[in-house]
Amino acid sequence: MSTAPRLAAAKRDWGHDETGCTVLHIDMDAFYASLEVARHPELKGRPVIIGTGPRSVVSAASYEARRYGVNSAMPSARARQLCPNGVFLPVDMAYYRMMSHRIFDEVFSQITDRIEKVSVDECYMDVSGALLRWRQPSAIGAWMRREVAERYHVTCSVGIASNKLVAKMASTNAKPDGMLLIPLDKHAEFVQMMPLRGIPGIGPALEQRLLAWGVDSVADLAAMSEESLARACGSRTMAHGLYLASRGVDGRAVTPYTPEKSIGAERTFDEDTRSMRRVCALLRWACDDVASSLRRRGLCARTVTVKLRFADLSYMTKAHTMERAVDTASALYPQCVALLRAMLHIPDTAGEDAPLPREIRLAGMSASGLAETAGLEVQPTLDDLLEESDAARTCGTGSPDGVGATRADRLRGAEQALDAVRRKYGSKAASLGL
Ligand SMILES: [Mg+2]
Repeated sequence: MSTAPRLAAAKRDWGHDETGCTVLHIDMDAFYASLEVARHPELKGRPVIIGTGPRSVVSAASYEARRYGVNSAMPSARARQLCPNGVFLPVDMAYYRMMSHRIFDEVFSQITDRIEKVSVDECYMDVSGALLRWRQPSAIGAWMRREVAERYHVTCSVGIASNKLVAKMASTNAKPDGMLLIPLDKHAEFVQMMPLRGIPGIGPALEQRLLAWGVDSVADLAAMSEESLARACGSRTMAHGLYLASRGVDGRAVTPYTPEKSIGAERTFDEDTRSMRRVCALLRWACDDVASSLRRRGLCARTVTVKLRFADLSYMTKAHTMERAVDTASALYPQCVALLRAMLHIPDTAGEDAPLPREIRLAGMSASGLAETAGLEVQPTLDDLLEESDAARTCGTGSPDGVGATRADRLRGAEQALDAVRRKYGSKAASLGL
């Protein structure tokens, strides 16, 4: 449930030029509460509040309940004081998730597969590929809103703009049950009428910091130079982001993301083993297998999970989420080794010849948190940047090979070359020496 500020004045007709406005942000209204009313029609028109129990907080509230001042993250006990006649229901996440899957499958996915699901009730959509059939983004928004309302008794709000930032701000201001198109030449004006907190990502701490500099609206932000913004918020990166956002500019692509899916490989040893060397070799094979499968499908993964099954058939898993998504064995494998050591409490000083404390029957790894490689911003990690500056110091500039390429880039190139060899000569033709 969104608590982002809305402006009544922003919910107006901004014009009808849809040129370049191919990003939609869809946000279902009071989703949990709407679904409860949908399956209990007798609750229609009553204040419905999801989240009950003496120590719980409000997860969602119908618009009728919001009129009493009930809001998300408020203690349920407080909501009861504000709205004593409210209908308080427990959270039924399995039901909300099931309905979310149905709505995404049966309505949103009918338009395009370029959908970035943000949560059960919210997504971005890149409709540029669907315009041949639909002609106008607003026709798509109108159709989805009608379908979801008629079939599931849930209303949704839709923002239409040229980028994710403005589309999201538009859907927020379209609520409830509305649609707002912000033409490209109105992006700056629309964004600049908002209070600071109207920009997603400006939280209470940053707001306080900016207020202390006398900046109390997005229009004030837009009047500042990037240098003074950097002084105000103490970060060049953040200043650059604010500079762009205050003009309604956002370069992030809609990135289809499938949080639930994973790709994995595992194998049972011929006989149980205590050899770290053998377990590592198996994990190396699994990483290579999974990485080439990721590359084949054009995916990158952020989360690595190692799985071990022991001689007594009990098993253990441990996961790590990385700062950026990867698709190479050279990036996945070191994470697996670190996880293996952590799971079995093996100190970093112990080499591969040290016996494992338990007998291992099966080992494997999987990659999850998958996103399409094409839509990802290529952002070097801090390690890459450090390595580059080291390399520049030792080699000087203008080295003929791999100018501007990080070690990670070069390893990725090697693995792609390996993919090509395997496509030609079969999967056993070459393997990776990490
Ligand atoms: Mg919502």
